[in-house]
Amino acid sequence: MFTCNKKSVEEKIKKFSQIGDDHRGGITRYSLSKEDEMARDYFVERMKEIGAIITTDDFANMYATLPGSDPTKKGIVMASHIDSVKNGGNYDGVLGVISAMEVLQTIKRENIPHERNITAMIWTNEEGSLYPPAIMVSGMLTSPYLPPEIAKNYEVEKMMNSKSVIDNKTTFREALSKFKYLGTKENRLSSDKYIAMFEAHIEQGPILEANKNDIGVVKCVLGMVNYTIRAVGEANHAGTTPMSYRKDALFAMSKVIQIIHEELDKLPSDLVYTTGQLSIHPNVHTVIPDEVSIMIDIRHESPDVIAEAVKVLNNLPKEVYGCHIEVEVGWTRDTVYFDKQLVNFIEQSVKELGYKYQFINSGAGHDAQFASYMLPTAMIFAPSAGGRSHCDEEYTSLDHCTMLASVLLNAVLKCDKE
Ligand SMILES: [Zn+2]
Repeated sequence: MFTCNKKSVEEKIKKFSQIGDDHRGGITRYSLSKEDEMARDYFVERMKEIGAIITTDDFANMYATLPGSDPTKKGIVMASHIDSVKNGGNYDGVLGVISAMEVLQTIKRENIPHERNITAMIWTNEEGSLYPPAIMVSGMLTSPYLPPEIAKNYEVEKMMNSKSVIDNKTTFREALSKFKYLGTKENRLSSDKYIAMFEAHIEQGPILEANKNDIGVVKCVLGMVNYTIRAVGEANHAGTTPMSYRKDALFAMSKVIQIIHEELDKLPSDLVYTTGQLSIHPNVHTVIPDEVSIMIDIRHESPDVIAEAVKVLNNLPKEVYGCHIEVEVGWTRDTVYFDKQLVNFIEQSVKELGYKYQFINSGAGHDAQFASYMLPTAMIFAPSAGGRSHCDEEYTSLDHCTMLASVLLNAVLKCDKE
C-alpha cells in the first residue's frame, strides 16, 4: 500500500486557489482564460520536475505522462478539470487534477515500478461557464462513441461557435486558437492509447459526510430527462381586466408546478427534480402574462422510475385556469454505469487503506460519463463539507483530499498489473 503526501497535496490546493482567487474564499477560473493558462503553467512546471512528458491536443486538453517500462502496453489516464464556475470553489475538478499530479509525484518519489504509461490529464472547458455547454470538450472528443441523440448536442461545428457569455461575441474557436496550450489532434485521448480513465472528484453533495464516510466508490452517473412545460393564456391589461376574465399563464404554471411536486413526491424518495429555469412573456408588470414556460430536470438511476416521472408530466391536465398546457421533451440521457473491474480496483484500494467508504451515484455530470462510452472509466469521490459545491464555501478537508489521492494511486497501480 502506498499513500500520498499530505503536505504536497496542501501546497497544491493553496497554489491553485490563488490562481483566479475571487477574494471571497473561492475562485473564478474560466476555461481558456489567463487564469486557466497560469494554472496550466503551474501544472507543467510541477510535472516537468518529475520528468513527465507534456503534450496537448487540438482541444487544448493537456497530458503529463510518466513512461512505463513496457511501451507496447496501453496507458492509464487520470483526468479532471481546472476550470470553475463564477465564484466557484477550490476543489471541484481541480482536486482530481491535484490527485493525478500527486499520484505521479508519489510514483516518482517512491520509485514505484509500473509497466504502463501513467498520465495526468486536464480536460478543457468542463464547466462551460464562459463558453456553454458544460462537459463540452469531452462531449466533442467522445462524440463518435456517444448515442446519436446525445452526440447531436455536442456537434463540433456548433460547439466551436459557442459565444462567450460575457461579450456575446468571442467564440470558443477564437479563444482556443489563441490559447497558449493548443496542440494537435493526434495527441487526443483515445482507446488506442489508453485502457482506462479514472476521475477523482468531490462529491458535491451531502451523502458521504452524513454517513461519516471518507470515500465514495462511484457506481454510475444518474440518468436524466429534461422537459419544457408551457402554459399559454391571454395577455391583457393588469388594471382593467376583472379576475374572472383572466387567463393568467403564470398563475396556471404555479398550479402545474404544485401538481408536479405532489405527484413526483409519491415516487421513490431518491428521485431528484428541479425547475431551474422559468421564462415569462411579456414580463411587464402591467400585463397579465400570456405565456410562461419552465424547464424541469429529473434524475434517477432506474429507467423505470424515470419513466414513471415522465408519465406524471405527460398526464398533467391539458388545461389549467383557462390556460393551455403543453409538455415537450428536451433531451434524455441514460444512466451511465462505470466499468466493473475499475470500480473493483477502487473498492479494493479503499479497503486495503482502511478508509470508511460506501458506494454512491453521481447526480452531477462529469467528463468521465462521456469518456466511459469510449474506454473503461471509473470515478472516486471525497466528501464535500455541508454538501456545498459551485460556491465559495465549497470545502473538503485536507485529510480527505489526501485519502482521495491515495485511493487513486493504489487503484491505478492495480490497473497497471492487469
Ligand atoms: Zn467538476
